[in-house]
Amino acid sequence: MKLKPKPTRPRSLSRVLLSGAQIRRRVRTLAAEIKAVYGEEEFTLISLINGAVMFTSDLMREIDNPVRLDCIRVSSYGANTISIGTPQLISSLTLDIRRRHVLVIDDILDTGKTLQFVTKLIRRHRPASLRTCVLLDKKARRQVAIEADFVGFSIPDEFVVGYGLDFAERYRNLPCIGVLRPELQHA
Ligand code: 5GP
Ligand code: MG
Repeated sequence: MKLKPKPTRPRSLSRVLLSGAQIRRRVRTLAAEIKAVYGEEEFTLISLINGAVMFTSDLMREIDNPVRLDCIRVSSYGANTISIGTPQLISSLTLDIRRRHVLVIDDILDTGKTLQFVTKLIRRHRPASLRTCVLLDKKARRQVAIEADFVGFSIPDEFVVGYGLDFAERYRNLPCIGVLRPELQHA
């Protein structure tokens, strides 16, 4: 079977913000920035699923340190593009992170509520150190004073999907990140 070349812009997007190639290049340099801080040390990656799945799997392949992986599931959005206030813990850690170096990975830092909630929770487990890494940063939307230690891209205040990011659980599989067509923004 002959595969047709994929269109550069998926039909569901009105605009591509970051292409797959751009993301790949930045993930590589981001991994180098992380490496520069941790050296040869072991650390534990804590990925906020589902949004951070693609970013986590690509990023960890670029890191040659000994790493452990755990996932946390937090809900902050329903099938909507507006935050529904306080994040809630759906499923927590399984690894012991006491006296371990921890790097939290999320897809996007928006109001900051999710990352603040998660870092508070992790600190209660007394890690040796705690750092945060997000692929995207929407600075204009911040409601709580929190910044990530490692940021892939700063983006404007627009609701984006793709590369793990969803709208009503769809579009996570897009290889790029972009703005959903307005007519598709209903659940
Ligand atoms: P915060 O708690 O910082 O407001 O939001 C963080 C979470 O909201 C992210 O982990 C992500 O799941 C979701 N989120 C924030 N902005 C966007 C966006 O533009 N698109 C998508 N798909 N999710 C977003
Ligand atoms: Mg998320």
